[in-house]
Amino acid sequence: MAKSGHGVYFDGVTSARHVVSIYLEVAALRIMGEHDMVFERWPYGELVHLSAPEGVLRLGRTGSRRLERLEIRDIDLAHAIDEQSVPVDRGGATERKGRKKIVALSMAAVVSLVLVGIYGLPALADRIAPYVPLGVERWLGEAVDAQVRTMLDTGPSNRAFECGSAPGERAGRAALDRLVAQLEGGAQISIPLHLVVVRRKEANAIALPGGHIYVFQGLIDKAENGHEVAGVIAHEIGHVANRDGTRAVLQTAGLSFLFGILLGDFVGGGAVVIAAKTVLNASYSREAEAAADRYGVALMNTVGGDARALGAFLTRVSGATHPGVKILLDHPETKERVAAIDAAASKSSPRPLLSAEEWSALKRICSGP
Ligand SMILES: [Zn+2]
Repeated sequence: MAKSGHGVYFDGVTSARHVVSIYLEVAALRIMGEHDMVFERWPYGELVHLSAPEGVLRLGRTGSRRLERLEIRDIDLAHAIDEQSVPVDRGGATERKGRKKIVALSMAAVVSLVLVGIYGLPALADRIAPYVPLGVERWLGEAVDAQVRTMLDTGPSNRAFECGSAPGERAGRAALDRLVAQLEGGAQISIPLHLVVVRRKEANAIALPGGHIYVFQGLIDKAENGHEVAGVIAHEIGHVANRDGTRAVLQTAGLSFLFGILLGDFVGGGAVVIAAKTVLNASYSREAEAAADRYGVALMNTVGGDARALGAFLTRVSGATHPGVKILLDHPETKERVAAIDAAASKSSPRPLLSAEEWSALKRICSGP
């Protein structure tokens, strides 16, 4: 089995690609750059499996505030890392551990069903969402993410659904990474973000449970500057921080997940489909949207961006920043939202979050090879 190999490391702050050597130590991955300089040591237990194009293993680290990631194309090495680490394991190595967990979860499920009977599901989901352990949220996020991806990816199969990996798109991905790293640094949320731009023509963005954020190509196309993209992403980070996606999934698919666990259908095929549909069609309450706006504006103020850009974008785009929610230009709620955003925006003049070159690269993130 491979014990070492090569990969590419992104520090999440700069756009530099570091070709690194990777060594499998007993408890951690050692990531070394040129001249045997140790960049990082990532314990196996903290590895997160990020979505990646076919043939690439992309790893992140939980708890990391930066969007650092490691990309491995060497299949043997990827397998070896999988064998070593529990969270990225996709095979049977963790099955025995899993069984014990399922017994515990089944008991939890029975208790939950009783509570559902007492309180009713929506109220219970509302109470539980803030306390869902990060590990569970991440697991839920991975499961829902895979399903949402299949539902959204309706284009021709010969092109990547995700933008940013073709040679002509990489500069755009690097610019996006820098934008996200600034926002993530300011947000200080406990869950690492996985943000991707996908080839969909709607001017939309959605946040799934577990820190997954999808920005649609149509949104990048309609945005007029980096502040607008940042503003929408900051709003989505608000949904992640407030765990709105997790709450919505618990409210509609929570029972299916519980039954899935009880019946031993752990990943509960049916439940995942319901959860994915929920996330795609969810229109959050006005309160949840207002809270995400407040969060987004505060975050934009923190990082020094132009917080009013979100309002400008909402006003200009007659679509929605969420599927199922048609925000019309003259809709009083949109006007209210924009007024609240403007009122909370910092009065000091914003600094650019991206250079002119980075912004034009980001505009081309879906331009293909
Ligand atoms: Zn929203």
